[in-house]
Amino acid sequence: MSDSLAPVAGDAGPQVPQSGRKRELLIVLGCLVAMLAGGFGAAGIFQPSASSSDRDRSSASGDRAFAQLEQADAARLKAVQDLLRIRSQAILHHDRRAFVSTLDPKSAAFRLNQKQMFGSLKRVHFASWSYTLGGTGAQAPAAARRRYRAPTWIPVDLHVHYRLTGFDKQPTNLPQYPTFVERSGHWYLASLTDLRHEHSATDIWDYAPVHVIRRHDVLVLGPKEELATMALVADQAQAAIPRVSAVWGRDWARRVVIIVPSTQREMAEITDDHQNLNHIAALTSSEFTITGAGRAPVGDRVTINPTNWPTFGTLGASIVITHELTHVATRAQTGTQTPKWLSEGFADYVGFREAGVPTSLVAAELSGRIHSGHPVRQLPSDRAFRGGATLLPEAYESSWLACRYLAEHYSQGKLVRFYRAVGASDAERHQAITTALRRVFGLRPQEFLSAWRGYVTAQLG
Ligand SMILES: [Zn+2]
Repeated sequence: MSDSLAPVAGDAGPQVPQSGRKRELLIVLGCLVAMLAGGFGAAGIFQPSASSSDRDRSSASGDRAFAQLEQADAARLKAVQDLLRIRSQAILHHDRRAFVSTLDPKSAAFRLNQKQMFGSLKRVHFASWSYTLGGTGAQAPAAARRRYRAPTWIPVDLHVHYRLTGFDKQPTNLPQYPTFVERSGHWYLASLTDLRHEHSATDIWDYAPVHVIRRHDVLVLGPKEELATMALVADQAQAAIPRVSAVWGRDWARRVVIIVPSTQREMAEITDDHQNLNHIAALTSSEFTITGAGRAPVGDRVTINPTNWPTFGTLGASIVITHELTHVATRAQTGTQTPKWLSEGFADYVGFREAGVPTSLVAAELSGRIHSGHPVRQLPSDRAFRGGATLLPEAYESSWLACRYLAEHYSQGKLVRFYRAVGASDAERHQAITTALRRVFGLRPQEFLSAWRGYVTAQLG
């Protein structure tokens, strides 16, 4: 799922083929495994409890030692939980003093960085802020321990959850990899970056003071120097919401949070997307939490690529935003069995639907390739949508035409039903698509492929 689109015919500026993808963090089960795989030797993993049969075999002195260990462990856990509560409340209530009291007094650079981050949050309103903390953990890596010269603890599992007021219905679920240190009987937060292989999630406020632009259903966060872009993006997104609902229906949030970072590098870090972003206009991202009802997307964000954005004219930007908002709308009905040709083709279908751009212009690269003797054969694979893929524009264009064919030849409503049917399927991809094609259109896969080829040739040949 991602974003972005076939080359856009902007009304100004060069055409930039776009694409993107979303961050998908499967968080709930992943942490312990990730930690073990991330370079911690077995000796570094703290074992807080043992099975009852193990304990039966241990000596009386072993029991005492174990009890002491458990006590110390419980005390540390409580101290860190208290620290995180103070930090949460301090952020919620803009209490700088309380916030600073949780930071390691001897980690000067980290304190400075954290104070700047806290200041950057001044204009951001949170409905909630909290952490979930796992009880087990490890020592900090050896180099960090030497630096702290104090007892350290890195929990195996820490996530930050926050809701932006008026926008996030469910809290985000973002991994953090902190180091806590104990000094004179008190625990403090000393770092979020000690682990080489695990990166704490970052947000726009980790980079610069955040400014906020609000429209009725749109919240845009970015730095001061991007205020003009932020205002344009906010207006375009507000206008795009009904365009998306007109196709998809109204069963989505119909509200959106958009991030405008200062640089492409910041964009990569915030979205945790380190593919080649040079041709990407914007990205949608979200995390998933596992609920009783299954996977639920949370923390939906659209992040603008500040490097490419200025190359779009009004029309191009509006198409990109509509495309991205389509990903936000369809997120909960997009599964791992949903092929990218469908999620990207559908987002482009909605994006271009009312744009009035001639087909030959939207699909210029595909048209050129067909005219040079390379007719379309198969729908593009997921790999064809990677940022650095050589035929990236063609992948978007041919997928767009696949979705447009289904909407034109059958109906837009059936295209939407098809998308939902694939996303709701429990089957693997091929079976999910085959079943949905048959149920919604009465088509076999080969019939669909050959109809799509004919349509592409008729449109561009
Ligand atoms: Zn996309």
